[in-house]
Amino acid sequence: MRIVLLGPPGAGKGTQAQIIAGTLGVPAISTGDIFRANVSGQTELGKKVKTFLDAGNLVPDEITVAMVKDRLAEADAEGGFLLDGFPRSIPQAEQLRDSLGELGHKLDRVVELVVEEDELVRRLSGRRMIVDGKEVQRDDDKPETVRHRLSVYREQTAPVAGFYEGEGLLARVDAIGEIDEVTSRVLAALGVEGGGEAGQPAAV
Ligand code: ADP
Repeated sequence: MRIVLLGPPGAGKGTQAQIIAGTLGVPAISTGDIFRANVSGQTELGKKVKTFLDAGNLVPDEITVAMVKDRLAEADAEGGFLLDGFPRSIPQAEQLRDSLGELGHKLDRVVELVVEEDELVRRLSGRRMIVDGKEVQRDDDKPETVRHRLSVYREQTAPVAGFYEGEGLLARVDAIGEIDEVTSRVLAALGVEGGGEAGQPAAV
């Protein structure tokens, strides 16, 4: 299955992406994780993208699209994948469609995790990661940057849901609730067994 998981920062995309990809046996490809690994590894790519990440801005499309194209050409993505954090703009969505087309593939489903903005701000401001045994806050989870990321989402990424709705690929899933409840709703939206009423996208 070739799937895109959409949703604002703090909707739980990363968590759900890992579980769903594991269930389906496809790689979870997170552009945010790839960028962060490059920043902490101080690679050339990392040096190029650090200022964008720290400011909560999108990394320019030419960098992001080339990176995703390379990743999708790897052997483990041949039979399917779950993209988390990409596409994040209409041009990225169009370029993804073209790149997949060149490989003779297309997306099967796009799932949007829906959470209201007040809840997102609460979740992101309280979010901590464990790095080397220590609790740390992501630089871009600071309150001012969180607000900026949400406005970038509203302006540049939210229209991507409409793009996929127009292609008949979109399922909107309510992402408020326990992690396993949300997982069941996503699996149901994908028509996968174990996801409750298969084929019935959870209504919002
Ligand atoms: P979140 O969804 O919580 O904002 P991500 O880990 O998906 O977090 O993304 C973190 C940052 O990585 C973004 O704010 C942006 O700077 C960069 N990034 C990730 N994916 C993309 C993308 N598809 N296009 C441009 N920038 C991206």
